[in-house]
Amino acid sequence: MRKILGVVFCLAAMVRSQQVCAWGEPGHQLIGDIAWTILNSENKSAAAKIATLLGNGVSLSLATTWADCAKSVNEETFQYSKGEFTPAICSSFSTADRALMETYVRDNLAHSGPCNTKPGLETCPKQYHYADVSEDHARYVSGQNPEWFGVDDHDVVHSINAAMHAIQKKQWPYIDGAYVIENERVALFMLAHFVGDIHQPLHVGAVYLDAQGNRLDPDTLGQNPWDAGTATSGGNNITGIPPELHGSWDTIPANFSTTLKPGMETAAGKLAKSSGDASSWATRWASDSVELSHSTAFAPLTFTAKSGETWGIDPASLTGYDKEKGGAQETQIVAAGRHLADMLEMLYGS
Ligand SMILES: [Zn+2]
Repeated sequence: MRKILGVVFCLAAMVRSQQVCAWGEPGHQLIGDIAWTILNSENKSAAAKIATLLGNGVSLSLATTWADCAKSVNEETFQYSKGEFTPAICSSFSTADRALMETYVRDNLAHSGPCNTKPGLETCPKQYHYADVSEDHARYVSGQNPEWFGVDDHDVVHSINAAMHAIQKKQWPYIDGAYVIENERVALFMLAHFVGDIHQPLHVGAVYLDAQGNRLDPDTLGQNPWDAGTATSGGNNITGIPPELHGSWDTIPANFSTTLKPGMETAAGKLAKSSGDASSWATRWASDSVELSHSTAFAPLTFTAKSGETWGIDPASLTGYDKEKGGAQETQIVAAGRHLADMLEMLYGS
């Protein structure tokens, strides 16, 4: 949710879409590894089908990063090129998979025109990765009238559902609302990434602040038009913790991927499997993230007045914050691994 114009917007968009990728690539890959371990222990048939679909050289771990790598496709020339913010892992994709990124961006930009008309907002393919629900709601709900700020038909919940329905229907290219999905490989890449994104609390929950740094809920203020200056872009515009609040949640501690990984895989395998109608899973996961964004990411913090385009954090409110954040990150990475495995077992299990 942003309506910041000109140079400021370009800088902000760069922060959101290039520097900040939910969980960073180590976190996404760890989620892929956890899901793969679960699949191989619970449903070898599903694992075999996915291995065949992905082919040699592309593990589920690598597949989780494809949608972030697609951000390195120029939205005017539709050419992929490695840039300053392109994750190093992207060079592991083949020429054919990079060509798929180009097709994905070109087709979705052309198809999803309506969401590009609001000044200052990112393009649809970049908005696919997140929502910006006010933490006050403590849950994700789509279909309110009017729709809550930060909920759109092209947010991360809809991205997961579109990719899931595409794989279920297998009619290619699959066209659904704001999405064009070229083939099953792209749908699988989308799922592998967006199930990770939706578990990063600040990719779904957002805090809205006035100029003095006081919290407000844009959906209860009757703002019409709403004051875009209150949006913090999922914490991208909140400084005071490096690299900024959103990025501090994206960055997982290094020991998650090294020493803690076996325990996280065991914990994920013991979590309850997702149940009920799979079309409701993404909404449920998003609600968990909004609640966590409120309780752990935002509630402990006191924000300082806006300066330029950013707010600060009262340092006193950061006491003990990193420890709580690390615990929540571990919980969410483990849950994301479990839930990605659930989704793939549902789609490919026999
Ligand atoms: Zn993402």
